[in-house]
Amino acid sequence: MSNIGFIGLGIMGNAMARNLLKAGHTVVAYDIVPALLDRVVGYGAARGESCRDVAARTEIVITMLPDGPEVEQAVLGPAGALEGAVEGSILLDMSSISPIVAQKVGAACAAKGVAFLDAPVSGGEPKAVDATLAIMVGGEEAVFQKVLPILKIMGSSVTLTGAVGAGNVTKLANQIIVACNIAAVGEALVLATKAGLDPEVVFNAIKGGLAGSTVLNAKAPMVIARNFKPGFRIRLHQKDLRNALLAAESMKVALPLTSSVQQILMALITEGKGDLDHSAIVTFIEAMAGIEVKSPQKAAAN
Ligand code: NAD
Repeated sequence: MSNIGFIGLGIMGNAMARNLLKAGHTVVAYDIVPALLDRVVGYGAARGESCRDVAARTEIVITMLPDGPEVEQAVLGPAGALEGAVEGSILLDMSSISPIVAQKVGAACAAKGVAFLDAPVSGGEPKAVDATLAIMVGGEEAVFQKVLPILKIMGSSVTLTGAVGAGNVTKLANQIIVACNIAAVGEALVLATKAGLDPEVVFNAIKGGLAGSTVLNAKAPMVIARNFKPGFRIRLHQKDLRNALLAAESMKVALPLTSSVQQILMALITEGKGDLDHSAIVTFIEAMAGIEVKSPQKAAAN
């Protein structure tokens, strides 16, 4: 059993740290929000005093933070994990951040003899709770093999996709496909509704064909039911697409579809919808068409 540090105990980190405890590992936990730390201490974790303290007391440190600036602060900042980490320990960042930041943090760790992997996840809170996350990892094969048993406690699919940064490039590829797919589903359902069709009938007619997808199956019913409870928040998806565009720019790659959807997400955040599920992208398209996606019977009843 390992002595694992866990920094960042929000929606995802809470469930992931809990699964490590359930598997019998020792966890030293820390979050800047005391109530979130109390909750995980309640599951049996030891209380960390700072990111430095967590790293000083453990040989593997996991971070699960919102974005790159928070990872830089928690790892490289004052009282950060790197100040406490000893040579030979492993830092595993499971946040979804820019691959450029992952490489910067990885290089700073390497300079101190600390191994670094970027290992973002896909699946959201339900899969974090069930320990069925998809985990995409960047870093050295030997380090990957050392932490693989720990990653398998939190996820059902764990894949090494390349060197440090590759985990986040893979995650960004995932986020591009999901965002553009949701936007396309929104446009299709708005068109069908405007034409007087029942969007539910249209969804059922097309889901078995080439347009069928996990995104269509998950998000079309939410749109039709007007259920925008997150799931995955618009503000986090906007952050992911911003990171995709920054990474693409650094490689001189144009991503016109990603750029358009990122701007739609930005507009929705400005409208106060940042905490809705990303299926609420449809509301932007609805506003331009002057129509709401719903079945004709429901529309007539209103
Ligand atoms: P969250 O905001 O719920 O949790 C992040 C936690 O980090 C918060 O509790 C915050 O207090 C803590 N934190 C921030 N700065 C800190 C610091 N310097 N030191 C210690 N703690 C600090 O976010 P989340 O939903 O758990 O997501 C975490 C990451 O996982 C994000 O990168 C997100 O994009 C990614 N992700 C989320 C989902 C999802 O559905 N929520 C799915 C896949 C991936």
